Amino acid sequence: MSKNSDTPTPAAPGIPLAGVIGWPVAHSRSPRLHGHWLRRYGIAGHYIPMPVRPEHLAEALRTLPRLGFVGINVTIPHKEAVLALADHVTDRAALIGAANTLILRPDGKIHADNTDGYGFIANLRQHAPDWRPEIGPAALIGAGGAARAVVASLLDAGVRELRIANRTRLRAEQIRTEFGARITVYDWAQAGNMLEGAATVVNATSMGMDGKPALRLPLDALSPDALVTDLVYTPLDTPFLVAARAQGCRTVDGLGMLLHQAAPGFERWFGTRPQVDDDLRRAVLA
Ligand code: NAP
Repeated sequence: MSKNSDTPTPAAPGIPLAGVIGWPVAHSRSPRLHGHWLRRYGIAGHYIPMPVRPEHLAEALRTLPRLGFVGINVTIPHKEAVLALADHVTDRAALIGAANTLILRPDGKIHADNTDGYGFIANLRQHAPDWRPEIGPAALIGAGGAARAVVASLLDAGVRELRIANRTRLRAEQIRTEFGARITVYDWAQAGNMLEGAATVVNATSMGMDGKPALRLPLDALSPDALVTDLVYTPLDTPFLVAARAQGCRTVDGLGMLLHQAAPGFERWFGTRPQVDDDLRRAVLA
């Protein structure tokens, strides 16, 4: 196989394999991302997309270590289910209730972690280096799986007050119950109110994705000093980010979160800490 091809070939003994499991998985950008790093660092490894039906998940996880796999990324709909199948779950993955990165050890044991929150913070730190999470309240729209990772990382980063609004209020209440007193739940109909005085504003819903309705909040209360970010990265410039910029705010798109969340797994599996830079962004967007 040519070194520049993404097409997987059978692994030679000792050549580490990694991949992403999901159902479906064809949309995943992870093969392009990890493929770019493997080529860039001249690592003899392969990264393979693997469509795995939910009813085959346990069998797939039993089999992959025997086939030479050292690591797996996990995407929808398996992120929660892998926790029950792993031998060891990190505290943050347990708190978030989902894993996106598995390390398959030589003894066949599975170690599950969640790096989405790490990716979220690393993206903000890269693109807004002077961002200070502790200087004011954070406002989070959404309470799904990705929002839970954002909550864990923002609290960890030192946010003192975290406001959440979600269409299904119960999911936001659940986050408050699990993550504690720094969280305030706002009603979905009043979500615009939570922007008042917010220093950090995050869309963690799927609204604004290509083919989905845009997130339209009244932004009158939004300060131009706020940093606004969106987890959605298709399109890169979501209607929410466009509206926030029109209000004078600095914005950071969601692609960098995807790139950064991949780095810890790549390092564990292939032994090199990869760079997240413009070359990688271009390769993933190509
Ligand atoms: P999820 O668990 O299915 O949660 C979806 C969230 O969107 C929930 O809060 C849901 O509210 C809300 N929502 C969906 N449609 C809505 C609508 N029409 N009106 C109001 N709220 C709506 O999904 P997820 O895994 O958290 O992912 C959320 C988004 O983040 C997706 O677009 C995903 O692609 C993106 N994401 C990006 C990265 C990255 O690296 N940049 C990483 C992970 C996820 P309800 O609770 O009321 O249903």
